[in-house]
Amino acid sequence: MLKFGKPYIESSQDYAILKNEVEIDGLKQTLWFKVDKKYEQFLCYERGDAYLIASLNYAMINHHDIEIDVPVTSQLLFNIQNYLIPALIENNPQFHAPKIKAPIDASTLPNFGAVGTGISCGVDSLHVLATKTNTIFKDLNVTHLTFNNVGSHGEGQHARELFKKRSVRPAKFAEEYNYEFVHSDSNLMDVLKQNHFKTHTYSSMFPIFCLQKLYSVFFYASSGYKFSEFQLIDAPVRSCGAYDLLSLDVFSTSSLRIYSEGMGKSRLAKLREVVKYSPSYKYLNVCLSDGDNCGVCEKCVRTLLGLDALGVVEKYSEVFDVDYFKKHKKWYLQQMLYRMADGKHDYFEMYPYFKKEITFDMRVKKVGYICTNKIANVLRKYPRFFSAVKKLVKAH
Ligand SMILES: [Zn+2]
Repeated sequence: MLKFGKPYIESSQDYAILKNEVEIDGLKQTLWFKVDKKYEQFLCYERGDAYLIASLNYAMINHHDIEIDVPVTSQLLFNIQNYLIPALIENNPQFHAPKIKAPIDASTLPNFGAVGTGISCGVDSLHVLATKTNTIFKDLNVTHLTFNNVGSHGEGQHARELFKKRSVRPAKFAEEYNYEFVHSDSNLMDVLKQNHFKTHTYSSMFPIFCLQKLYSVFFYASSGYKFSEFQLIDAPVRSCGAYDLLSLDVFSTSSLRIYSEGMGKSRLAKLREVVKYSPSYKYLNVCLSDGDNCGVCEKCVRTLLGLDALGVVEKYSEVFDVDYFKKHKKWYLQQMLYRMADGKHDYFEMYPYFKKEITFDMRVKKVGYICTNKIANVLRKYPRFFSAVKKLVKAH
């Protein structure tokens, strides 16, 4: 059983914290969510929506029922019970259908009307800004950028330090382009321990619903699945993002609409929009490491090739070492061929742009790469023989 109490606010001169007591199979903990003092008025202590959504997947996988002492929004509970749970159970019989016990409230809470989105300065978040800024839909242009600590930076103190380090660039971006910046910290991932990749939609809704009196619209950048890849079956390499089209609709209520932004667009299609958005020339950051773009990790390689395919790589000399890229273009193209051999679909759409530059030598290396991988895969089935071969290769 997962039991949530009544949320309450504690505040200091600079911060406001929404706290709630949680009990998981008898173990009591305090779940907290911390924001700058200016957002205290929007912290939602009246509803249990944030707790219901954040714990739903956890409850289904770990076979818990959910009890919440504060009312949940009627429409949200209706959607979850009638659509999301039945759809997931039908496709994943190993999941548990949690019994949800909570008072229901159908009234509408006050709402500031902010339009929010997350900001990391990567392709997904800049795509939201490139396409949801200064549009004819005045009520749907982004006003608030959020940067949250609810699992994507890991767990515990290490996550908190990484979160602090990573928030510098988004904060600078928000200041320079006049967006409100909502910076939030939480211990959600320490209380409900779950695989963030697999469950990110649920945990990412927690900061949004803790501030549900602030937002009327939130654009949640999709995790790269196309419409045709919609899937409810839980598989090891697939995240819950594969059914965002359903879950985000279920989580939307009459006062807060959540969109799966960019869904249906390929990586290159998103990049095509991003390159028209000039703040990206100064801020685009895709690197797997935590500093500036390194230029050689998988994400940097993919982005540099994408920018070059679109003929705009020169515009990104502030964030990438474009001279290095040009001098070593052959190496980058070779990486593209290797990743295609690995079946990474992002590279297939770039290939036509570079086809003429691929030499015979590069193709031979690709065949060598495929053969080596195939042999290694066979050897891995016989671990003792594999380690003997590895030793032999190292010795020579
Ligand atoms: Zn990198």
